[in-house]
Amino acid sequence: MNEPASVLVVGAGVVGTATARALQRAGHAVTLVDSAEPGRATSYGNAGFIAIDHVLPLARPSTLRRLPKMLMDRDGPLTVHLPSLPSLLPWMARFALAAYSAAEVKKGVDSFGTLMAEANIAWKAEIQASGLGELFRSKGALYVYESEESFASGADERELQKAKGTEFEVVDGNRARELAPGLSAHIVRGVYYPHGMHTTNPYRVVAALAERFAADGGTVVRGRVRGFGRDGNRVTSVQLTDSELPAKALVIAAGRASGELTRLLGFNAPLVAERGYHVMLAPDNVRFELPVSPAARGFFITPMEEGLRVAGTVELAAPHQPPSWHRADLLVRHLKDIFPGVGGAELSRWIGERPSLPDFRPAIGRAPRLANVYCGYGHQHVGLTLATATGRLIARQMEGEELPETLLACDPGRFG
Ligand SMILES: Cc1cc2nc3c(=O)[nH]c(=O)nc-3n(C[C@H](O)[C@H](O)[C@H](O)COP(=O)(O)OP(=O)(O)OC[C@H]3O[C@@H](n4cnc5c(N)ncnc54)[C@H](O)[C@@H]3O)c2cc1C
Repeated sequence: MNEPASVLVVGAGVVGTATARALQRAGHAVTLVDSAEPGRATSYGNAGFIAIDHVLPLARPSTLRRLPKMLMDRDGPLTVHLPSLPSLLPWMARFALAAYSAAEVKKGVDSFGTLMAEANIAWKAEIQASGLGELFRSKGALYVYESEESFASGADERELQKAKGTEFEVVDGNRARELAPGLSAHIVRGVYYPHGMHTTNPYRVVAALAERFAADGGTVVRGRVRGFGRDGNRVTSVQLTDSELPAKALVIAAGRASGELTRLLGFNAPLVAERGYHVMLAPDNVRFELPVSPAARGFFITPMEEGLRVAGTVELAAPHQPPSWHRADLLVRHLKDIFPGVGGAELSRWIGERPSLPDFRPAIGRAPRLANVYCGYGHQHVGLTLATATGRLIARQMEGEELPETLLACDPGRFG
């Protein structure tokens, strides 16, 4: 262990890599550690949407009310991997408590207001600073509805978006079909977000951030973190399989696996894998340029570099379970309902694990009872969106700045 101590960021997904960049810009010597190549886990295959319109966290009463119907439907937007059910019950109970509590829902709304405002600024700044412009498109985004009832069920969220200053336009089916040619005739409504932005390759975003990080003097180390050296309430090193790295400070950004590391440090991160799938299709007959989401079906259709990405839906599962590929088949069926005639041959399919805490708020900031450990995990459906904001917030806290009060709701110590 001869090298000088640096800030060690564990996890080179989009959150860890963006955090490493922010810390580097703040003047720290930073080492990014991952057991795999940067960007190959959940950050690889998401829908690519910078979802700053997402201001109403999923832990809320309306999600709970819809749960029984959703769970009865094997092809619905949410399902449970049944063999995992016993191990998921404690998480589900915590989720229900958070969703039923008006105080917890308010914390979610307030913290997401702050986080999304920060995300909006942070991505624009990072795209500029890291030269990522060719990987992003500002073409807006369109949510589409197959019935008036389904459109009406999003009224609360739209009210909140209006209050937070998010611009959108409610459109009829014909206007939706102009915005996204090929859309089925049965779509009755749309909500168009003119400022929506997406990436055409989420993996390349992480790879490019990691490359810039290394080019600007950051160190990238391949290795699985298995333990920590401690001196009282400070972490002094990180133990890999056959080496040890000295640590000035530590950031845990290991996605779904973060709980395994926090346990070693004496605090809880009750994360589950909210699994989602994607299918890449050759770009046949695609005449639209913006992400389209049939809101009630819980997925996105995003035009990307290689073709059309159909990504989303939720399958709650314990870690390390085999994929349920019928969920990927389902995505293709959904696509054919919403865009009959769009999309060519299947190019690839993928499964990813959204790292989700039961209150659906991420853990961002200083770890409990430890002087030099910070957290950035639990970003569930919006990790791409919140990655750069997370990095900036952690960098500011490391400089001694207090986080905004609304972000106390994202305190990593809240699960004990
Ligand atoms: C189908 C789907 C669609 C999505 N669409 C969107 C979207 O449109 N917009 C959006 O904002 N979000 C979206 N998301 C969510 C987003 O992809 C995730 O929130 C985000 O990728 C999480 O990033 P992360 O860096 O926390 O985790 P990961 O990308 O999983 O990275 C964690 C890293 O930690 C490493 N690691 C773990 N343990 C260790 C260890 N002990 N030692 C060393 N390294 C370790 C892993 O190898 C991995 O590289 C989607 C997710 C899915 C599944």
